[in-house]
Amino acid sequence: MSQAYLLSCECGQNVSVSASQAGGSAQCTCGKVLEVPTLRRLRELEPDPQADTADANSRDHRAWGVRQGVVLAGGLIALFGGMAAGVMQYAAPQPPGINLELDLERWAEYVDQMTLLQTWEHWHGGMQRLGVADSQQLESYRRELQTHRFLQRILLGVAIAGAVLAVAGGCLGRGRKA
Ligand SMILES: [Zn+2]
Repeated sequence: MSQAYLLSCECGQNVSVSASQAGGSAQCTCGKVLEVPTLRRLRELEPDPQADTADANSRDHRAWGVRQGVVLAGGLIALFGGMAAGVMQYAAPQPPGINLELDLERWAEYVDQMTLLQTWEHWHGGMQRLGVADSQQLESYRRELQTHRFLQRILLGVAIAGAVLAVAGGCLGRGRKA
């Protein structure tokens, strides 16, 4: 990239010397070793248009090479990334065999056989998996339901006891009557 200057030799040729050679020496193709002036004086010489052009060319070439490489790499990444994404789109894990009509039918049958609590738990489990419901709500519901059922059984027991008593009373009455 260094600027070159034309240093004229006694033989009539021009020797191209770079700024880095300032204060040193350069050899002409005729064999004569020329003293290269200091940088300040070197700059007063005619610049070597060939060196300049060559430098400019190589600079452009390098720049183009880098740009080309970046564009190519970016293009390849985009292409393969896009292809991979496209393949993944089609190779996405499918929900396990949904035959909506059949599955809904089976589900409806299943739900029919479930108790209300089971149905609720299924629904609630789904909600929990979605992070919508909290398990405390489920626990308190279970406790409430257990208490409810316990009271229900007591009431049923009381009812049965009452029925037995009624029947027994009827029998007794009949017995007394009889
Ligand atoms: Zn010469």
